[in-house]
Amino acid sequence: MNTVRTRIAPSPTGQDLHIGNAYTALINYVFAKKYGGEFVIRIEDTDKTRFVEGSEERILASLAWLGLRHAEGPDIGGPFNPYRQSERLEVYKKYAEELIEKGHAYYCFCTSDRLAAMRKDQEANHEAPMYDGRCRELKTQSSKLNAQKEPCVIRLRVPDEGVTVFHDEIRGDISFENKLIDDQVLLKSDGYPTYHLGVVVDDHLMKISHIIRGEEWISSTPKHVLLYQFFGWKPPLFAHMPLLRNPDKSKLSKRKNPVWVGDYINKGFLPEAILNYLATMAWMHPDGKEIFSVLEMVGAFNLLAIQTTAPIFDIEKLRWMNGEYLRKTQSSKLKVQIFDFYNGKYDQNLIERTIPLVIERMKTLAEYRSLAEFFFIRPEEFERPVDKKLVGIASKALESTEWNHDAMEAAIRLETEKAGMKAKDVFMELRVAITGKTVGPPLLESLEILGKEDTLIRLSLAK
Ligand code: GLU
Repeated sequence: MNTVRTRIAPSPTGQDLHIGNAYTALINYVFAKKYGGEFVIRIEDTDKTRFVEGSEERILASLAWLGLRHAEGPDIGGPFNPYRQSERLEVYKKYAEELIEKGHAYYCFCTSDRLAAMRKDQEANHEAPMYDGRCRELKTQSSKLNAQKEPCVIRLRVPDEGVTVFHDEIRGDISFENKLIDDQVLLKSDGYPTYHLGVVVDDHLMKISHIIRGEEWISSTPKHVLLYQFFGWKPPLFAHMPLLRNPDKSKLSKRKNPVWVGDYINKGFLPEAILNYLATMAWMHPDGKEIFSVLEMVGAFNLLAIQTTAPIFDIEKLRWMNGEYLRKTQSSKLKVQIFDFYNGKYDQNLIERTIPLVIERMKTLAEYRSLAEFFFIRPEEFERPVDKKLVGIASKALESTEWNHDAMEAAIRLETEKAGMKAKDVFMELRVAITGKTVGPPLLESLEILGKEDTLIRLSLAK
């Protein structure tokens, strides 16, 4: 087999990398690695009307955060200096003109007003919105001259008859009747290519061997296949992945789930957990494993085993998996992750000491704060007022005890008994006074960390 080269080709038209694109990127990355191949990142920034400022930077940062790195190639500066279509406009122009020469494309001078009117008529007649071919028969020579003077686009000349068939590695053969394929614009009047021209030219020139992308691109593929034919190029293999769904099976949407990778970063998910969860979306580890690394996935992955039934992206399941990853992380590493997540707000050594007390309850880094902030900051707010008498009992017991779990427990039990109260009630009051909350990490272990002095001050301040 020739070198396997795959790619992810995000457009900087959204806030960040979409989680669905992260999913596609993972599959492409794993597939390339499996065959010792290369994974390429290409920014498809040719739609100026939908361009979002800062999007490219965030997409690249999210890919970097996930560890899905760009292969280094001849004209690529480094792992995160991707290809960028806006820097290659001359290339697309040349190929669009080549198609004109070959008679597979034509200049179109129709104005946007004319096209809008045409579309309106088609809508009224319940016809599919398609270019009506008015400029198809213009003489190439005179069009070429006019193209120097008048705004125009270049359109693909789709054959009137026949069918265009392609083989999808996951779905089998898919065919389209040519008469239903639009004479797609290839080069816009601003000199930018459309997605269809850009994607085909680049996938060819970048020697992409497998195009693995979301199923929403299936209907575009016959146009691409025609372009490969017209250029006389061998098309890559195609595989269209199922789209991620909300638990109610609707298309993953902002209303039901966070969709940007940055949202998951901010919520305190780990990249390993996200990748592992995404891996399970339409593919099953052959040993039925649920928790596995990207490296393990590379070993076990099989593109043909991708299921096409709608994979449900369930954030609760992801949270569970993230918790598993947090518990697998060494505390020396986790303390740095927590430290960084909170921008250095909490002391690293203290973080490390608190980890064993909170880790069982944590599903995301963002949950650390509510579980452990009291270690760093005395509570100012209390979930409910404390019972001063019970706090007094705890305080008395703790004043003169040794500072370890067993001694503290014995002292509190003794003092409580003397006062004729229930130990359980004193422990609860102690918890609220120390942490401000009624639930939290193991209490006496927490006091061990806080130390006697701070504990007694907290007890005296509790409201
Ligand atoms: N630029 C397209 C996107 O935004 C790429 C689609 C493809 O992979 O061909 O996803």
